[in-house]
Amino acid sequence: ILIPIGIFVGLLLSAILIFVVRTRMSMPTMIRNGLKGSEFNLLYQPVVDLSSGTMMGVEALIRWRRNGKDFVPPETFIPVAEQAGIISLITARVFRLLAEDAPHILSERPFFHFAVNFSAGDMHRPGVVEEVRRFASQSGIALDNLVIEVTERSLVDVNLAGETMRQMRAAGIRVAIDDFGTGYSSLGYLAQLHVDYLKIDKLFVQALGTDSPTSQVAARIIEIAKDLNLQVIAEGIETKRQERILKGLHVGCAQGYLYGRPMPLDELLQLLRRKGSVRRLEAA
Ligand code: C2E
Ligand code: MG
Ligand code: MG
Ligand code: MG
Repeated sequence: ILIPIGIFVGLLLSAILIFVVRTRMSMPTMIRNGLKGSEFNLLYQPVVDLSSGTMMGVEALIRWRRNGKDFVPPETFIPVAEQAGIISLITARVFRLLAEDAPHILSERPFFHFAVNFSAGDMHRPGVVEEVRRFASQSGIALDNLVIEVTERSLVDVNLAGETMRQMRAAGIRVAIDDFGTGYSSLGYLAQLHVDYLKIDKLFVQALGTDSPTSQVAARIIEIAKDLNLQVIAEGIETKRQERILKGLHVGCAQGYLYGRPMPLDELLQLLRRKGSVRRLEAA
C-alpha cells in the first residue's frame, strides 16, 4: 500500500512544481506580455525656467502597471529590459505613446520641449537617429524641441554612443547627460561629446544647504558646465531653499516636486490651460 501512496505523492509534487514554474514567468517575458496589452503609459514632469518659473517642457517618464495591478518602478524593469536586449521595444512604445499625446500638448504650447530617456542599447543601435526622426515627424515635435537624455552609465561604448550623439546634434536634436556626477566615467571625454545639457542628479540637489560634504558638488558641476558651455538642468528640487541656492548659482532650468510631480496627460493639459501657468507654475 505504501508504493501507490508514494507514486501519488510524487505525481502531486511534480504537478505542483510544474504549476509553480509555469506561473512564475521571467520578467522579460512579463515585459513582452505587458507590451502586447496596454500595461505601459507615460507620465509627464514639468521642466521650468528657473528665473521666471515658466514651464519650458516636460520629461516623459514610463510607468508599468503589471497585470493592471502592481506598479513596477522603472528603476526595476529598465535594467532588466536592458540586460534582456529588449530596451528597443520599450523605447518604441515610449515613442508611440508620446506621438499620441504630443499633438494635444503642442496645441496648447507650440514650442514645448519634450525630453525622452535613452538607454545604452538605444545609443548603440544602428539607425537609431532615423528612428528618432520618424518619431518626430509622426508626433509633430520639431527636432530642435526634442531632448534625448542619456545617463553616464549608458556611455558604455563612448565611441559608439558619441557617434550617435554627433548625428543627433547634426539633426538638431538636443542631448542631455542625465544623473550627471553619479556615473564613474572620467570628465575627460565630456568636452569631446556633442552634448547640450548637464542634468544635476537629485542626490546633489538634496545635499544643498546641508553640512554634508556632498553639498558642494552641485556648484562644482555648474562650474564644469560653464567651462564647457553647457546648459544646466537641476533635478529633484523639493524645497524653496534648494531653489534659492540654485538660483544663486545661476542654474537655467529646474525639475522637481516643488514645480510638479510626474503627471498623466489630462492633468498636464489642465495645468497648461489654466490661466497664468505660462508665467508662473506654482508649487503643487
Ligand atoms: P531620471 O531620468 O533621472 O528621471 C528623474 C526621476 O526622478 C524620475 O523617477 C522622477 O519621478 C524623479 N523625481 C523627479 N523630481 C523629483 C523630486 O523632486 N524628488 C524626488 N525624490 N524624485 C524626483 P522615475 O520616473 O521613477 O524614473 C526613474 C528612472 O528610470 C529615470 O531617471 C530614468 O533613468 C529611468 N526611466 C524612466 N522612464 C524611462 C524611459 O522611458 N526609458 C528609459 N530608458 N529609462 C526611463
Ligand atoms: Mg531623465
Ligand atoms: Mg536624472
Ligand atoms: Mg535617475
